[in-house]
Formats: sequence, C-alpha cells, structure tokens
Amino acid sequence: MKNLYGEQVYEVAHKVMRVFESPFYIEGYETSCTVSLGIAFLNDANKDPDDLIRKANLALSDSKVSGKNKFILYDVSLQKFQEDTVSLERALKGAVDEGCGEFKVYYQPIIDAKSGKIVAAEALTRWFSDEYGFVSPVKFIPVAEQTGLIIPLGKYILNAAIKEAKKWLDYGLDISVSVNFSVIQILQTDLVQTLLKALQTYKLPAKNLIFEITESLAVNDINKIIEILSAVKQIGVRIAMDDFGTGYSSLNHLRRMPLDIVKIDRSFIFNIEFDPYTVSFVDTIAKFCHMKGTKICCEGIENETQKSLLKSVNVDNLQGYLFGKPAPADEFWKRLTSD
Ligand code: C2E
Ligand code: MG
Ligand code: MG
Repeated sequence: MKNLYGEQVYEVAHKVMRVFESPFYIEGYETSCTVSLGIAFLNDANKDPDDLIRKANLALSDSKVSGKNKFILYDVSLQKFQEDTVSLERALKGAVDEGCGEFKVYYQPIIDAKSGKIVAAEALTRWFSDEYGFVSPVKFIPVAEQTGLIIPLGKYILNAAIKEAKKWLDYGLDISVSVNFSVIQILQTDLVQTLLKALQTYKLPAKNLIFEITESLAVNDINKIIEILSAVKQIGVRIAMDDFGTGYSSLNHLRRMPLDIVKIDRSFIFNIEFDPYTVSFVDTIAKFCHMKGTKICCEGIENETQKSLLKSVNVDNLQGYLFGKPAPADEFWKRLTSD
C-alpha cells in the first residue's frame, strides 16, 4: 500500500466490518446488516475534497456490485471502468430512444431430436452500434437491465420476433419463436397485455411463442413467479426455463413451475462425450421432466457425438452450432424456404 496511512485505514475498515458482524437492536427488535466500504486517499498532486468523495463513492459502488460486505480501495482502473459503463449506457439509451434500429434480431434453429426438423428458433439480439460497432448481448443486456432500457428494447425484440414467426407460419411453416425475457420484464404488471398486444398485432397464435426465462428468476418470491408464469401460460404461450443447471433452481422449482420446456445449459453439453455423469444427469432431468409433460431441450451442441449421446437419453429438442449459428432474419428465412 502506497499511502503512509494505509495500514491504519485497513485496520479501521476491518474494525467497522467486525462491529456489523453481530446483530444489533433498534427499538427492541433484533436486526443485522452487512456493510460495504469504499476507500480513497488524498495525494500531494490532488487535494480536492470533492474528488476524494467521488473516488470513495466509486470504490463503494464497486464494493456493492462485487458482492457487498467488503471494502474496496479506489484505483484508476475503477475510474476507467465507470467511464466505459456510463458511455455504454449513454449509447444504449440513444439507440433505444432512436427506435432500436441498431438492434437486429438473429434466429438460431431448434431441432426436433427425432425428426431432425426445425421446430422453433430462438430470437437472439445483436447490437450494431454506430459508436461501438458490434456489441454482444452478454455485454449490453445487463446494462439494459440495470438501466430499465430492457423494457422498451424488450418490446421491440418481442414484436420483431413475433412478426418474423408470422411470416414463417404464413409460408406454411409451423415454427415457434422463442424469446428471452429478463426478470425485470417479467415483473412488469402489464406483461400479459404486452404479450397479447404483440400477438394480436401480428395475428400469431399464442402457441407459436415460447417465453424463455432464466433460472435466476427462481431467487425471487417463488409463489409470485408461479402466479405470473401461470397467467402467461393461461393465454396459450409456452414457457421455457433457460440455462438450467447453472443457477439457483431446485428440483422443487422444476416440480412447481408451470414449465413446458427445460433448456439444459451449454456448460453441461460441451464435454458430455468425456463425462458419463453428465449423460446420466441429463437422462435423470429428462425423465423427471417427462413425468410432468415438460420437454427437454439441450443447448450448445457442436458435434455429432454430443448429438447421438443426447438422442440416446431421449431429449426432445436440440440446439447448437451443429444445426446452425444464430443468423439474421433474411438468412434464416432463406434456410427455411430452401430446405
Ligand atoms: P441464451 O438465451 O442461453 O442463448 C444461447 C446462447 O448460446 C447464445 O449466445 C447463442 O449464440 C449461444 N450458442 C448457441 N449454440 C451454441 C453452440 O453450439 N456453441 C456456443 N459456443 N454457443 C452457442 P448469445 O446470442 O451471445 O446470447 C447470450 C445471452 O444473451 C443469451 O443466452 C441470453 O441470455 C441473452 N440474450 C440474447 N438476446 C437476448 C434478448 O433479446 N433478450 C434478453 N433478455 N436476453 C438476450
Ligand atoms: Mg435463451
Ligand atoms: Mg441458454
């Protein structure tokens, strides 16, 4: 630690945190909380108190986003990180405010394991930013979620995907479209109206829409989530739990949630040919789900060995680069109409 007082600051920070380890009483009620600290130092070159507070606040935010209950010392990389995030947020807001034209929905085929035919396509969004060029959803979706921009952006994506699926249907291809929903979209009170409005606008039957939720949803009040999902199911939309096996979901959640499809995460598939336990895992989850009438889809299939192993354990749907990468709407359309 460069600063002369660093050692003492460390000590004080530990002391403060230790105080909060024990519960305390407010008006007779026992309560407890964690504490997050951000620490910054003045130096000879910069003695501006406002700047000091700003830096300590930055370190505090970092402490909160990186798990809370810790202290973080300010350093210049935090400043750079914050500037990058603010600038990305600004560009994202601009792109959404200007009508979402910089976003393109791509489609990745989902295959029926028995017939090998395309039965659905997952809508996966790409951002071609004027300022940043291509931005992966892994980067911009969390920013859209934190800023609430996922609400207008999500509506744009939903409408684009439904419009596309109607085009497939009108051509005689009964292929569903699977759209990813973030937790904050699912908690909107007008969720069902939003879905109904989009389906009615493009005259797509509700059964042709799959509503993908992530497993992390299960950390919320499970009864409330079941109520919301049941309302969505009630209008005829099917529900898929995405990325199963990576998050907080329990078998109890699988049992209780009104799921039509469970998507086993790619992290289970990528080395399945070298790991017999994973094959048994998929087999067990498939048997469990089939008892409830829930289908199993495996994500991230990249080779024939993975495909035949999964077919041998009776999974229903397959998705992965082996069958096709996410492609722009017109490219996917060409594939559908030339098959
Ligand atoms: P996800 O919903 O689990 O989507 C599957 C991801 O795995 C996609 O990444 C897809 O391109 C990738 N993938 C599919 N097959 C393979 C494979 O065989 N090998 C490999 N290596 N990767 C494969 P992508 O498109 O980058 O999307 C990442 C995540 O971003 C998605 O994960 C989803 O959680 C989120 N996302 C994407 N589009 C949207 C959207 O429109 N709305 C929301 N809320 N989230 C979205
Ligand atoms: Mg998904
Ligand atoms: Mg997934």
